[in-house]
Amino acid sequence: MKIIDILKKTRSVSFEFSPPRTAEGIPAVLESLDELKVYRPDFVSVTYGAGGSTRSFTEEITFQAKRAAGMEVMAHLTCVGQTKEEIQGVLERLDAEGIDNIIALRGDPPRGSTEFVPVAGGFQHASDLLVHIKANFKFGVAAACYPEGHSESVDLDSDLEYIKVKVDKGADFLVTQLFYDNQYYFDFVERARAAGIEVPIIPGVLPVLNSAQVRRFTALCGSKIPPALDQQLDKYADTDASARDMGVEYATKQVRELWDSGVAGVHFYVLNRSYSVSRILDNLKLPGHQREN
Ligand SMILES: Cc1cc2nc3c(=O)[nH]c(=O)nc-3n(C[C@H](O)[C@H](O)[C@H](O)COP(=O)(O)OP(=O)(O)OC[C@H]3O[C@@H](n4cnc5c(N)ncnc54)[C@H](O)[C@@H]3O)c2cc1C
Repeated sequence: MKIIDILKKTRSVSFEFSPPRTAEGIPAVLESLDELKVYRPDFVSVTYGAGGSTRSFTEEITFQAKRAAGMEVMAHLTCVGQTKEEIQGVLERLDAEGIDNIIALRGDPPRGSTEFVPVAGGFQHASDLLVHIKANFKFGVAAACYPEGHSESVDLDSDLEYIKVKVDKGADFLVTQLFYDNQYYFDFVERARAAGIEVPIIPGVLPVLNSAQVRRFTALCGSKIPPALDQQLDKYADTDASARDMGVEYATKQVRELWDSGVAGVHFYVLNRSYSVSRILDNLKLPGHQREN
């Protein structure tokens, strides 16, 4: 089923997983997926790595989630390191396995480089990939957006213009980059609506798992850490269990405020660790997403 049709009926809760580095890690990802199944996610998604074997693991976990776990799945797909023909091959495999949804992404430049350069015969922007998907397949398609602006964008206005291109070319809904200050999300939605973007904009939430990791991720994607959270990250810099507990509390409040504002859904960046998201959902008791016993 297309996710946009799910969103017409309900407010979604969804979980994002990542492929492991080696095949030995696949069972642990599937276990984490299974642990969160009790919260009845409306869909799950599996990120697409920069290349090599993790891409085949992405496909394997995507297919397992759909087939064995019976979940609705959104496959991530990027333009990195693949020609149009190679991407066409991935799309055909997803289609043959009955996957109905894709999030079309550009992907990041390789580490150490600030500029994205497509391979010869590849796609330059996520919108190009999206157009290709829409022209050749029947998938429901989502795209990424950035409440605080994408790290390469010149300014918020031009960034929003390019996000609108993705919507105009057929993105059914948008999923945001992580953020820790909801005001960025609320302001972004207001600007997007004023610019004529009418599709659902689902906030992506990453609970703090440890201080160093949040500092690294936010530095990479350009999301700001509010002063109060900054202090907590310092306080628990060397105690991961306390940082994680603080992260559960922070994300519970963050999602509560988002949910109460009427968001179409919430997408949790799980990072393959079910513990924090389980506790957050136990705290929130969202309708239809309470633990099934
Ligand atoms: C929900 C979500 C899921 C993600 N999943 C993955 C994943 O699985 N794997 C992965 O590698 N990465 C993933 N990413 C990260 C993403 O690939 C990076 O943020 C990447 O740098 C940009 O991807 P995009 O799809 O937003 O690109 P684009 O929409 O192409 O935008 C990239 C940059 O180019 C600019 N731009 C867009 N169109 C044009 C144009 N026509 N002319 C000039 N400039 C333009 C934009 O303003 C932006 O600065 C994800 C991000 C999010 C928010």
